[in-house]
Amino acid sequence: REEQVSFLEPLNPASTVKKVIGVVSGKGGVGKSLVTSLMAVGMNGKGYKTAILDADITGPSIPKAFGLSDYGVGMTPNGLMIPATTATGIEVMSANLILDHETDPVIWRGPVIAGAVKQFWQDALWDNVDYMFVDMPPGTGDVPLTVFQSLPVDGIIIVTSPQELVTMIVEKAVNMAKKMNIPILGLVENMSYLICPDCGKQISVFGESRVDEAAKANGLTVLAKIPIDPKIAAAVDGGTVEYLEVNWLNEAVSAAEKA
Ligand code: ADP
Repeated sequence: REEQVSFLEPLNPASTVKKVIGVVSGKGGVGKSLVTSLMAVGMNGKGYKTAILDADITGPSIPKAFGLSDYGVGMTPNGLMIPATTATGIEVMSANLILDHETDPVIWRGPVIAGAVKQFWQDALWDNVDYMFVDMPPGTGDVPLTVFQSLPVDGIIIVTSPQELVTMIVEKAVNMAKKMNIPILGLVENMSYLICPDCGKQISVFGESRVDEAAKANGLTVLAKIPIDPKIAAAVDGGTVEYLEVNWLNEAVSAAEKA
């Protein structure tokens, strides 16, 4: 395969984004949006101006997790999109905010998806953002690659689940990051285990996790293991993810802070 060439898109002069952290996964449904949301909540809680660019254009779930589904995107007098703001002040830009109905399917092809992400980056007013978390399109194919090439990503977090071929996914993500010279901050395993509500015992629902092995083989750190927890699903469904009081991602947030 040919070497990838990078075409980083400049920000518009009205915007400032100091650090960009990408959140990636091998496939959809492993909790990439959840991790993106909780990372942003954690960083915002530390007093940094925080934003989320939802680049998962065909499966945009960030607005719903923050209860922003009914919000639209405003416009500045000179035509820049104004991101939605969550209750605690996180700025969000997502395809969901510009669709007429939350349930409208997005059936755009790769280049259009990449184009939409570029517009969210370039044509939105990002007002003095310290940390922007990018919920990447799932996978390690062309679409996430193009998105990576167009944004100046300072570090990436890889989200895996024990149901997957973790070693393969991690290696693919490592190769993608290497190609673009982006440091990997570490791995987050989601749906890692379940705590029995009656006896408190930890149950490995999907069998023994391989994430530690995969991390070691690639010289990476496991930053967090998040359990399967009904309160997570309820918060994401109910739009209250920023009120989940959890500390699973403390180490991951510190790693992002130093990126
Ligand atoms: P992705 O962004 O990788 O497609 P999401 O973050 O949207 O995945 O998660 C998929 C679904 O699984 C969501 O409905 C979410 O509420 C649920 N979910 C994710 N992680 C957990 C967890 N640890 N415990 C319970 N439900 C979870």
